[in-house]
Amino acid sequence: MLKVENLNVYYDNIHALKGIDISVNKGEIVCLIGANGAGKTTTLQSISGLIPKKEGSVIFEDKDITKTKANIITKLGIAQVPEGRRVFTGLSVIDNLKLGAFTIKDSQENIQRDIEKIYERFPILKERKNQLAGTLSGGEQQMLAMGRAIMSRPRLILLDEPSMGLSPLFVEKIFEVIKTLKEEGVTILLVEQNANLALSISDRAYVLETGKIVSSGSAKELSEDSSVKEAYLGA
Ligand code: ATP
Repeated sequence: MLKVENLNVYYDNIHALKGIDISVNKGEIVCLIGANGAGKTTTLQSISGLIPKKEGSVIFEDKDITKTKANIITKLGIAQVPEGRRVFTGLSVIDNLKLGAFTIKDSQENIQRDIEKIYERFPILKERKNQLAGTLSGGEQQMLAMGRAIMSRPRLILLDEPSMGLSPLFVEKIFEVIKTLKEEGVTILLVEQNANLALSISDRAYVLETGKIVSSGSAKELSEDSSVKEAYLGA
């Protein structure tokens, strides 16, 4: 479904990604693990077209999207849930959700139906639908950010650090929703500091160190790998 080859990204003269190769098959959850600054966020943002690529290619469903603009990439079926949520704090919950559907050409009724489905997934968002997003708790904002991404009816979701700063209860809820999305056929590329948690719901994983993939395999293999355990799993 997604094939990233020899991805090289620079921030001025900082060589942030040094030839990354990643593939994601339809229906999988694949996670990227690695320390702060390893290049996980940069990988997601360059796939979604937010950061220019210096070298390499990104193919999504057989289409070359290496040079495609971010809004077109969303239209093609890739949604990103950015680190730190980035909801529109001055807009209501419902308006944030409606904005998530900006690439969808469909009737208002069908878009309203999608919003109702988001409320079923996240009942708290229904209770808070007229509240400004900026007044929500961190966990609620994470739910809203995910709801907004789902509104674009993506086939692939790029999810950046969904557990960051959340209480265990919210983390559990968010990860339940990730599992449900997979069951519904959505493919997920997940970046997560909490490697134990990420590996527990992923099919496969890649380990990044200073802009390079140093290890990859099934989530089970990697969670049993001694160097991964030592560096990332607190063993
Ligand atoms: P974190 O978990 O801390 O977000 P990460 O693995 O997602 O880490 P990136 O944020 O992708 O890592 O950063 C990769 C490298 O690129 C780091 O060396 C970082 O300092 C650098 N970098 C990231 N964003 C910028 C930027 N806007 N300008 C300059 N350098 C940047």
